[in-house]
Parts: sequence; C-alpha cells; structure tokens
Amino acid sequence: MVEPKYKRVLIKLSGEALAGSKGVGIDIPTVQEIAAEIKDVKDSGVQIALVIGGGNLWRGEPAAAAGMDRVQADYTGMLGTVMNALVMADALQREGVDTRVQTAIPMNQVAEPYVRGRALRHLEKDRIVIFAAGVGSPYFSTDTTSALRAAEIEADAILMGKNGVDGVYNDDPRKNADAYKFDELTHMEVLKRGLKIMDSTASSLSMDNDIDLVVFNLNEPGNIKRVVLGEHIGTTVTNNISE
Ligand code: UDP
Repeated sequence: MVEPKYKRVLIKLSGEALAGSKGVGIDIPTVQEIAAEIKDVKDSGVQIALVIGGGNLWRGEPAAAAGMDRVQADYTGMLGTVMNALVMADALQREGVDTRVQTAIPMNQVAEPYVRGRALRHLEKDRIVIFAAGVGSPYFSTDTTSALRAAEIEADAILMGKNGVDGVYNDDPRKNADAYKFDELTHMEVLKRGLKIMDSTASSLSMDNDIDLVVFNLNEPGNIKRVVLGEHIGTTVTNNISE
C-alpha cells in the first residue's frame, strides 16, 4: 500500500458538490458517492476533517442584495451548512465510517458543539469530524472556516475539491483559450493577483498560519485519494514553492 503524503487533512467541499447535476438542493445519491470516496481515502490511513459549504441551499450575500438584513441572511446560510453536514454524516455512517458533526452554533439535540479537544480525540479514534455552521459568525465563509479549523487541528493541508475545475488558472479557461493552469502558487501571489480560489480572509489566514491548499477537480472520481497519496494533480498553494 502506498503511504499517504498527509497524516491529517481538512477536506473542503462546496455545498454545490452535494447538489449533483441539479445544481441546487441535496441529491442523496451524489452525497452517497462522495461519502464512498471519502471512506476509501480514509482507509488509506489518513485522518479526515470535513467542512461543507452551504451554497447549494443559501448564500447570505445575494439574499442581502435582495433586501434582507445581512446578518440574518448569513445565519440562515450557516444553518444550511448544518443541513449539508447532517446529510453527509448520515451517508458516511451508511458507508460504515464513524462520523461526528460539530457545530459552531450550539444545537445540542442535533450535533455536538465545536470543541477542539473533542475534535482531535475523534480524529485520533479514526472518526471523521464535520465542522458545521461555519465559524458561527456572519460575514465569514466556509472557506475561512476551513482555514481556521485546519490551523486549529493542525491539519497538514486543506484539500479543496472544485466542481469541474481542475486547478487554479491565470484567467477563466472557459472564456480565454490561452488561460493556463498553475501547478504551484504562493498564497501571496493568490492575494496579489486577486485569484478567486478562496476569499481573501481565508487566503491570508492560510498564509499567516502556513497551511498548504490543494485545489483539484472533485468531479473526477478518485481525485481526493490521488491528492492524499501525493500525486501532483490540480494546483498547490503554499508559502514555499518547491524549486
Ligand atoms: N456563512 C457565514 N459565516 C460562516 C460560514 C458561512 O455567515 O462562517 C454563511 C454565508 O451567508 C454564506 C453561507 O453561509 O454565504 C454559505 O456558505 P458558503 O458561501 O461558504 O458556502 P459554499 O460557497 O462553500 O457552498
């Protein structure tokens, strides 16, 4: 068996990953497929924490643009991430993986509250932990949540699965035929060039805490495992470029 490159990873999935071809909502067979893939990755001997977005159900910004109070809109979005987390936890349990959901907003009947020490204990016991409800505050994103939790649990990297995009490009490849993909980039370059991989809060948090980020196409089955085993697919964003 190939040794995994990482011992502990935080996988970030956008909410849209759970929507399948419908693009919105939650498609149970799609969630089950992702859960099976994550189980396979875990079986390669890596500890996994998960952050799932909520964009398949709700986004705070457009709701605020439509007239809603931004803070109220963001809390609604955070609750969306809890729905996604519960559905994914159920799918992982059905794959035979012990899973715990921890929420940044306490809702004790539904999930555990976020407690770092307990999260670490779950990981050590080979359980998957899903961090839900973002950081628990409005004006933040689940990308920032990923950077924060990855730092807190000392993850070796954030694995960011994108839908149909196989890495970071200098321009939109659908609009510009000359657009090229980066194999490696620094967090600083991402910020300077204004590349939209994560929001800038998440990028600067990753830079300050020296967390590597691997961006890859989630729609190609087996890609999460390829990344974990150290295959160079997608784009790695780091503070120190290898050559
Ligand atoms: N959100 C928030 N604080 C957080 C995380 C999320 O207010 O710490 C809200 C915000 O309104 C956001 C929504 O939850 O639009 C869904 O999260 P996100 O946009 O990050 O989901 P993704 O795009 O990854 O699916």
